[in-house]
Amino acid sequence: RIIAATPVSPNEEAIERALRPRQLDEYVGQEKARGQLEVFIAAARQRREALDHTLLFGPPGLGKTTLAHIIAREMGVNLRQTSGPVLERAGDLAALLTNLEANDVLFIDEIHRLSPVVEEILYPALEDYQIDIMIGEGPAARSVRLDLQPFTLVGATTRAGMLTNPLRDRFGIVARLEFYTPQELTRIVTRSAALLNAPIDDEGAFEVAKRSRGTPRIANRLLRRVRDYAEVKGSGRITKAMADAALVMLDVDPVGFDLMDRKLLEAILFKFNGGPVGLDNLAAAIGEERDTIEDVLEPYLIQQGFLQRTPRGRIATPQAYAHFGVTAPQSQPT
Ligand code: ADP
Repeated sequence: RIIAATPVSPNEEAIERALRPRQLDEYVGQEKARGQLEVFIAAARQRREALDHTLLFGPPGLGKTTLAHIIAREMGVNLRQTSGPVLERAGDLAALLTNLEANDVLFIDEIHRLSPVVEEILYPALEDYQIDIMIGEGPAARSVRLDLQPFTLVGATTRAGMLTNPLRDRFGIVARLEFYTPQELTRIVTRSAALLNAPIDDEGAFEVAKRSRGTPRIANRLLRRVRDYAEVKGSGRITKAMADAALVMLDVDPVGFDLMDRKLLEAILFKFNGGPVGLDNLAAAIGEERDTIEDVLEPYLIQQGFLQRTPRGRIATPQAYAHFGVTAPQSQPT
């Protein structure tokens, strides 16, 4: 997918880093999470303590990593970054933890994918800033307790429900990130265009914004493709007409759905008669992973009112029928 919601190459990641806001007051939208963090960070700073452990959850590309970096910066501490699947052995985590300085931030992306042995090490670390590590093997092996510096764990996950209860309970601050409004995304696109030295109209920025699935990462990525298009096909200035032509070429439709969104909705509408259809059948029909459907595709379609999750499966809403220009069956089961 051209506009996948996750970074696809090291080059893309470098550009993302460059576009990342560095301070809380540059971070657009997410009023609720931002307001809470402002207070908790100020309080922790006044007491010269580590910020409470913080869990950030929400679909990919909404700004979890960005927020983790901002937290460290506003706290005036270092950030160490890793991810659930990378931490394979208990020793990997122990090495990270013992290297932290006072009040540092440890950022673990995809924290729902920690292995159980690694999670075990994490509990006492989070609660008492201590870890127990095994030294030696066989009958001579013994457990040694190490003291850690106070630190803040910032965990990110696409779905809070995928965390084990004991892990979730250890976060003092839990912030859910929401999809951005077109107005908020317009501010992000305008700011990014300025950083990229790309001339853009307000209407051009709005056109990119409203077709970005409520997601800053997608907005920034589409902006770069639209800029290419405007430079090659026009004067370089990104107008509404330029943005629209480029987005049509990229298969992003007027409401911002891409090929996969349409494939998913079309499967429900035309292969499964509007649903209900179970996740596994749907995954097989469109050749996509269950997790991708649940974490990346569905949240936006649900938020926009095109899809519903029911106990019997997924169903298309009348709005989905209307989008594809077909009439909904009269007695649609709900
Ligand atoms: P996540 O970790 O949730 O997948 P990221 O933090 O990596 O998302 O954000 C993806 C990109 O979107 C970043 O490069 C950043 O520039 C941009 N971005 C995210 N949130 C915001 C925001 N609130 N304001 C401005 N830009 C943002």
